[in-house]
Amino acid sequence: MAQTRIVTLDLNFQGRPQAIASYLIRPAGGDGAVLIESGPGSTLAALEAGLAKEGLSPRDVTHVLLTHIHLDHAGAAGWLARQGAEIYVHPVGAPHMLNPDKLIASATRIYGDRMESLWGEFLPVPEDQLKVPKDAEEIVIGNLRFLPINTPGHAEHHYAYLFEDVCFSGDVGGVRIPGYQYLRIPMVPPELHIARWHESMKRLRQEKFARIAPTHFGIFDDPEWQLREVEKALDDAERWLEQTMSEDPSIPIEVARESFTEWMTEQGTEMGLSEDVIAAYQLANPPGMSADGLLRYWKKVKSAG
Ligand SMILES: [Zn+2]
Repeated sequence: MAQTRIVTLDLNFQGRPQAIASYLIRPAGGDGAVLIESGPGSTLAALEAGLAKEGLSPRDVTHVLLTHIHLDHAGAAGWLARQGAEIYVHPVGAPHMLNPDKLIASATRIYGDRMESLWGEFLPVPEDQLKVPKDAEEIVIGNLRFLPINTPGHAEHHYAYLFEDVCFSGDVGGVRIPGYQYLRIPMVPPELHIARWHESMKRLRQEKFARIAPTHFGIFDDPEWQLREVEKALDDAERWLEQTMSEDPSIPIEVARESFTEWMTEQGTEMGLSEDVIAAYQLANPPGMSADGLLRYWKKVKSAG
């Protein structure tokens, strides 16, 4: 069988390498190109440069598969649709791709006037270019086959995609930087659900793949280690949450953010990471956001019984 190629495009987010990836898949001998993740609107220049290195222009991108609709994964999808690509997304995320107003408004509440420089423009995807596969409904593109796997936990509308021996794990498979046997999980609001995340890990364990490719960042050949680390990190976070909330049920959010960030920094230091590497992990996955997500999960799910 002809070989397909998978190329990691480094989107060089905020001038930092290895923070956000888009994965380019080129069918052997075939036309066109498939991307897993578009990246945000702010990194289009890096995306174009990465494609150019492969002899491609954005107009050659025929299909974009999004793991979920968060800005760092899906922000540039509308722009790629304008260049002619079809965009694939989870059914629950689809309305926000057609009309991103609510998504942009809620991100603006978080990022304020840093919105533009961080994320750039988020254009809507025209309805006739938006494809909404069901869970485990095979996506066939020429001789390429992708299997979307419903994997909530990080977000309700999250797919991991299986392709040949690779699992493109989006954010549900955690965040790692090449060269370090260390993983963190992005527990952002508003949909963080630790119990569902555990279910998603069980689901992925039932599938067969030899490599795993989180969007943050790179293709790794130890998927079992990675899934186990995600589960451990979920358990650790839940313990932190229970302890923090039992000590002070009305803990101010600023204090929780600080305490969680400190805890993560200590953990990184214990693992032998330099300050620079810890900063890189924080850029790909801000710990303050995870504190927000955890506290919201506590109020919405855990204390609701
Ligand atoms: Zn995300």
